[in-house]
Amino acid sequence: MGAETVDLLVIGGGMAGLSAAARVAAGGGRVVLVEKAERTGGSARFAGFVWTAPSVAELRRVNPDGDPELASALVDGFAGGVAWIRSLGVDCRPPVPVLGFGRGHQVDTNHYLDTCERLIRDRGQEVLTHTRTRSLVTENGVVKGADCVLPDGSTRRIEATWTLLATGGFQGDPGLRAEYVHPRAADIALRANPHSRGDGLSLGRGAGAAFGKKDAGFYGHLMPAGVPLADPARFVDLALYYSEHALLFDTTGERFVDETVGDHLTTMALLERPQARGLLIADARVHREWISASYVAGIPGVDKFQLCHRAGARCAVADTLEDFASMPEEWGYPGAAIRDRIEEFNAAAAAHGTTTPGRLLDHRPLDEPPFYVVEAAPAITFTFGGLLVDAGAHALSAGSDGRAPVPGLLAAGADAGGLYRRAYAGGLAPALVFGLAAARTALTETPAAVGR
Ligand SMILES: Cc1cc2nc3c(=O)[nH]c(=O)nc-3n(C[C@H](O)[C@H](O)[C@H](O)COP(=O)(O)OP(=O)(O)OC[C@H]3O[C@@H](n4cnc5c(N)ncnc54)[C@H](O)[C@@H]3O)c2cc1C
Repeated sequence: MGAETVDLLVIGGGMAGLSAAARVAAGGGRVVLVEKAERTGGSARFAGFVWTAPSVAELRRVNPDGDPELASALVDGFAGGVAWIRSLGVDCRPPVPVLGFGRGHQVDTNHYLDTCERLIRDRGQEVLTHTRTRSLVTENGVVKGADCVLPDGSTRRIEATWTLLATGGFQGDPGLRAEYVHPRAADIALRANPHSRGDGLSLGRGAGAAFGKKDAGFYGHLMPAGVPLADPARFVDLALYYSEHALLFDTTGERFVDETVGDHLTTMALLERPQARGLLIADARVHREWISASYVAGIPGVDKFQLCHRAGARCAVADTLEDFASMPEEWGYPGAAIRDRIEEFNAAAAAHGTTTPGRLLDHRPLDEPPFYVVEAAPAITFTFGGLLVDAGAHALSAGSDGRAPVPGLLAAGADAGGLYRRAYAGGLAPALVFGLAAARTALTETPAAVGR
């Protein structure tokens, strides 16, 4: 390769890409980062907690079908990732519990992302925004950079020893969602940056990298059905995190999931129900304790029911359970059956009996009127499926000779798959940890030396 060859070309300037590029620049390496949007940062600009499971055993408990090698790498690399953030002078608050089993730090992600970008530029390295990648450059099966299209329409070949795909997943592409997540996923709302549309996936596959398991699922939340999410402030304001303490009924009037184990898991389950929509029902106690309270330490609570109402969501306050029988027909739910199910649930919960589905974490009845009803639908934040990688962020092929690295190619963040399968323990942390792993690989290995 020529004198212009950089150590690392990063495609995608979000959490994974900026972490990798900044780490390489800090280590004295040469790096170019290309970002498709006008500004770097991706979905990470909306996120606030760098967190994961506190031990490999805990991660394996909540995510038994994920790749064990990646699970260990995430947990083992977490403290180093946090130390790296702090080493840049970015505030990382003391640890707090997240989603019951996890632990993490509130971080000013915008400060972190901007600090990474400044560091790259200060070290004389390049960040090219508003720049598309046309294709990867390959030579005898080795990835050696990419042809990129600059904002003025001209093409620039960027030669690199290593190329990192970090475009943030494929949740922004309805066709890919339908193919790899669920046929109904084509129509669900996007709760993330709009630019992550599977570019890393198609570039990687074109170079011989393999896609991992197809039905890995996705991370998302229940949101009020039919409410547009064009304003990113709604991603958090309207997320119905409190579903863990409510009851969710599908259009046939059935409960179908243990709502208490996590709104993000309920979101995946709802996608598989008829019409992928459901009625989320809470009572006055849940309203007091969860709907208008803080979801995670450090984030002030807001009355989400009121916000949903103001945003035009289909919602109602019922003074008694009897009111459910006169639910408007156009909603398309059997109101009387839902009333009966709530009464049955309450009777069983009050007698400490069993409910179907069971409730692992919150067994209390919903019997304090009034009742707060919101129609909910799944919204997607990022996909779990992606390119096969190992702990060093090498993209892997899946030929007849098993998993082998695609020489010169790396993947991290939501472009990489395998870590989670229908379970979740943080999105920023894997992007950080595997972004830093990609940097380590680029600083210490040459593609030819990789082989297994
Ligand atoms: C509202 C919200 C709240 C969240 N809160 C949390 C939280 O508190 N904790 C947590 O752990 N996770 C959270 N997440 C998830 C977290 O943001 C993601 O998991 C994380 O940002 C993934 O990192 P990434 O680098 O893979 O993708 P991103 O950070 O999304 O970066 C991908 C980048 O690639 C760019 N790109 C796309 N295509 C191309 C291309 N062809 N060429 C060049 N660039 C391209 C995109 O524009 C983007 O800048 C949240 C997400 C959202 C939306």
